[in-house]
Order: sequence, then C-alpha cells, then structure tokens
Amino acid sequence: MKLIFLGPPGAGKGTQAAGVSANLRVPHISTGDMFRNAVNNKTPTGVEAKRYMDAGQLVPDSVVIAMVKERLSEPDCANGYLLDGFPRTVEQAEALEGISAPDAVIDIEVPDERLFDRLTGRRVCKACRGTYHISKLANETVCPVCGNEVYQRDDDKPETITKRLQVYHEATAPLIGYYEAKGKLNRIDGDRNLEDVFKAILASLE
Ligand code: AMP
Repeated sequence: MKLIFLGPPGAGKGTQAAGVSANLRVPHISTGDMFRNAVNNKTPTGVEAKRYMDAGQLVPDSVVIAMVKERLSEPDCANGYLLDGFPRTVEQAEALEGISAPDAVIDIEVPDERLFDRLTGRRVCKACRGTYHISKLANETVCPVCGNEVYQRDDDKPETITKRLQVYHEATAPLIGYYEAKGKLNRIDGDRNLEDVFKAILASLE
C-alpha cells in the first residue's frame, strides 16, 4: 500500500502516521523528520533546509524531491510507503507520480483556529519522537511514554506558525483538489480524539 498523509501542520499527521504505518507494515517516511535529522547532523542538506524551516517556508522542491526519491529506492519501501508531509506542492506531487504513484491519500482536516493552539502547545520527545500537548503532560519536560526530555520545535513558535499555515493554504491545499480529481482522496475529520481519527482512517482504506 502506497499512502500519502495530507493536512495542515498540527492536524495530527505524524501521530496517526506512526500508528497506521505499524498497522499496514509500511515505512513511515516524514520529510520533516528527515530534515530535522539532517539539521542536527549538520549535513549539507540540513544546512540548506534550516533557513527555510526557521522561516516557516518550504524547502525548495528540487531538494525535497531528490531526498524522497532516494529514500523510496531503499529496500524497505518495496511493499509500499506512508509519506507524511510530502508532497506539499503540485510540483512535488507530479514528481511522485513519476517515482512511485500513491494508491490513496488521507487528508486529515482540522480548522485553522484549532491548529494554532495545537501547535503552540505541542511538545516532542527527543528520544521516541512521541508528540504531546502540553496540557496533557504531568511534567512539562518529561515524555510520559519513555521518560526522556520533551522539547518545543523551533518552528512551533507563534510567528512561524502563522507563516506555516499561510504556506499550507497557498502551496499545499491545492493538492486536495489534485488528488480528488484522481479519485484517490479520503477526507478525514481530524478534530476528534486520536482513537476515533485512527479508526476513521483505517475504515476509509478498507
Ligand atoms: P513538518 O515536520 O512536516 O511540519 O516539516 C517541518 C518543515 O520541514 C516544514 O515547515 C518545511 O520547512 C520542511 N519540509 C518538510 N517537508 C517538506 C516538503 N515536502 N516540502 C518542502 N519543505 C518541507
């Protein structure tokens, strides 16, 4: 199964993708995580990507497409993939059609006014990459699952969030119509609890 998770920042793509990829036994490929790893390791891609990420902008298509093409050629993608955060532009979607076209697209929909609170309150575990809302943490700096430190992403600051939401509506939201026209779009109401969203995604794939 080759799957794409579409949706605005803060819709819950990463959290749901982790569960769905385990369920379907396909690798969860998050381009945002790949860039954050590259930034931490100070690779040439990381150095280039960082200035775009810090500004809430998209990394240039050519850089992202080359990175995803290489990743999808790895052996663990032989039976499919779950792409989280890619494609984000029509140019990326067109490139993916030439690399390995998706079977289905999950669009997780959450209104903008809910996303701002979700993103400013988001904390991520440095070790297990679990994502939590600060209001749900007994200790604001400790991961409730593995006990390691949780942190706030640099791009989850209010100024950057506004820019990311604007970029989403301008560059990425057109992909909803793009995949709808191909008959591949599954719309999911993401403004519910995690379990209900998870069940709705699996049901939509049956
Ligand atoms: P994410 O974790 O998916 O929110 O991605 C974090 C940041 O990484 C984005 O705001 C972009 O700067 C960059 N990024 C991730 N995926 C892409 C993509 N498909 N195209 C361009 N930039 C991306």
